Amino acid sequence: MKFTRRSFIQKTSFATVASGIMMPKPTFSQHEENSPKTNSVNPWIELSKKAYLHNAETISKMANGNPVLAVLKNNAYGLGDTEVGRILDESPKIAGIALVKEVRALAIRKAGVKKSILLMADFDEKLGKDLVKADITLSVHSYQSLEKIQALTKKVRSKIKVELYIDTGLGRMGMPYHLALPWAKKIAAESKIHIEGAFTTLTTPRDFAQEQLKRFNQLVNGLKQEGIQIARKHAAPSYSLLDIPDSHLDVVRPGILLHGSFPIIDSPATKMYTLQPTFRLKARVIRVEKLRKGDSVGFSRFYTAEKDEWIATIPIGWADGYDSGSENGAKVLLNNKLYRVINVNASHCNLLLGEKIEAKVGDIATLIGPDHPEITPEGFARSIKGHNYLQIQYKESIPKYVKDHFE
Ligand SMILES: *Cc1c(COP(=O)(O)O)cnc(C)c1O
Repeated sequence: MKFTRRSFIQKTSFATVASGIMMPKPTFSQHEENSPKTNSVNPWIELSKKAYLHNAETISKMANGNPVLAVLKNNAYGLGDTEVGRILDESPKIAGIALVKEVRALAIRKAGVKKSILLMADFDEKLGKDLVKADITLSVHSYQSLEKIQALTKKVRSKIKVELYIDTGLGRMGMPYHLALPWAKKIAAESKIHIEGAFTTLTTPRDFAQEQLKRFNQLVNGLKQEGIQIARKHAAPSYSLLDIPDSHLDVVRPGILLHGSFPIIDSPATKMYTLQPTFRLKARVIRVEKLRKGDSVGFSRFYTAEKDEWIATIPIGWADGYDSGSENGAKVLLNNKLYRVINVNASHCNLLLGEKIEAKVGDIATLIGPDHPEITPEGFARSIKGHNYLQIQYKESIPKYVKDHFE
């Protein structure tokens, strides 16, 4: 075999990976199951326990010391609901977990989470008994859902914990506030149903959100006059909790803030509070190749080389949840340098390394993370003119590794 520079680089990089020299430095307290296999050719996500606990504490400060009901719907915005749930279970500021899929509520409980879990949605009748056994708090959101829970009371011994889900104007789920009083009285009269709380969801326009709060508080007061006390009231997702102090009620109910992002990029609150990014999305370089002038990359020949230059392939694409818009300006951190993404396919993307080759197969790329302003969720969102809620798309199959802290 002719010994070219390229084959030398490829051979050596394979060799070093195999001998373990290329292992990521153990900068965290590591267990074997706590870090990706040295030679993994699949992307992975690292989570920082310390960052989550810091954020929970900071959110509670934002909410004047109130406890935090952590919204871990949509697989904790793609970052792993059982992993994040277990981390937050240790925080004294976290009152409990709220989410919208009954199967995930069961999975989080099974993963060992001890704090209260609120299902803010309907449930499959077949899972009713399991949910009660797992001590999941159910939502009552209509007369139909009340009937379903009444039927369930006949199948279980213990009292069923519920919260009243009130629609004050979002128009998505819940009992319309103006119809809720007689309905709530009916629920309160059920001996085997215990009302633990009541909640609504605020919209973003401030005037209307304040009107929604008025509607919610009037209903709660109406119930009080009927002798029905609501122990826990909540209304505020991240946006409202920062925008309207009156929305804090008994607990606040953020999602995105927990993961270290503000609900809008450049929110004025960024000047008052520091959240820590909680995750890194990483993958190894699986191919390094040279383009000659005129060679192109991608199905649509999205990128064409104007001179001889090197490219790298990373095994992550839009089917994994990595935004396909990344080819319009996103950067990736590799060996302490930023490289431009020039192509995103379903399972792969390409980086432009340039005329010099400073990366090899097996090197670890960070696609999103706290390590550089251009690859934080906000930096990434800015670079592709997108939104910082984007990580919500990450596929469940991407493995998660929980670290005590990022270095
Ligand atoms: C998603 C959601 C939240 C959290 O929203 P963030 O904007 O991520 O804070 C809170 N409450 C309900 C009902 C939700 O659906």
